[in-house]
Amino acid sequence: MNMEARIRGIGMTSMRTRTRLAERLRVAGIGSECVLAAMQQVPRHMFVDEAIASRAYDDCSLPIGSGQTISQPYVVAKMTQLAIERTLEADQPLQRVLEIGTGSGYQAAVLAHLGCRVYSLERIRTLAHRASDRFRTLGQRAISVRYANGYDGWQGEGPFDVVMVTAAMQQVPTQLIEQLRVGGVLIGPLVGDDERQQLMVITRREEAEPLVETIEAVRFVPFLEGTC
Ligand code: SAH
Repeated sequence: MNMEARIRGIGMTSMRTRTRLAERLRVAGIGSECVLAAMQQVPRHMFVDEAIASRAYDDCSLPIGSGQTISQPYVVAKMTQLAIERTLEADQPLQRVLEIGTGSGYQAAVLAHLGCRVYSLERIRTLAHRASDRFRTLGQRAISVRYANGYDGWQGEGPFDVVMVTAAMQQVPTQLIEQLRVGGVLIGPLVGDDERQQLMVITRREEAEPLVETIEAVRFVPFLEGTC
């Protein structure tokens, strides 16, 4: 096969696998057309090692080194859809997002694809650097990555419309709630008494305690202290 045909072939295969992923997500309950389009258009194969790139459009988490994983597409789509729904319902903008746990950078790229300005913190130096390099290669300038522990959030850049935590918290750091604007939501997994993780949506309110909603069971790598 000549080079041109090979590239065409690869393009077609990836188009088919991307469409199949979007169909799968729709069946799993993702109804937002813009989220489904983003899941098809953001090149997930660019966020994993070449050796496993052929599995990039399967609906599963995959290793990204340093003992961490790129989240399962369904979970990325679900958290993104929640961010859109909650801000739309409250007639609030969805512009500034703080992400805790850059990892591969894929979740941040999906949010940026939808027009968000994303600030993302990662506690593992090599992952933070690799994600920054990827965004540069992709020409993605709406995402800022910082190598730091996410516990204190990103001072000076808030308030955020959404804080998205992509590692399982034992407790929700109050600093993260404080960096939300009133009406803004924190979306992320929380470990319960039974050690199982639940995806939570926590809304900051003006003169009341934050509103806490449990969405569904999920599995994330742990939210850890310190940096390495
Ligand atoms: N959003 C990522 C998911 C990566 S897995 C993606 O789309 O690929 C979760 C990431 O959270 C890991 O890279 C882990 O190192 C990071 N992490 C865990 N605890 C953290 C903390 N306290 N501060 C910043 N990053 C953290």
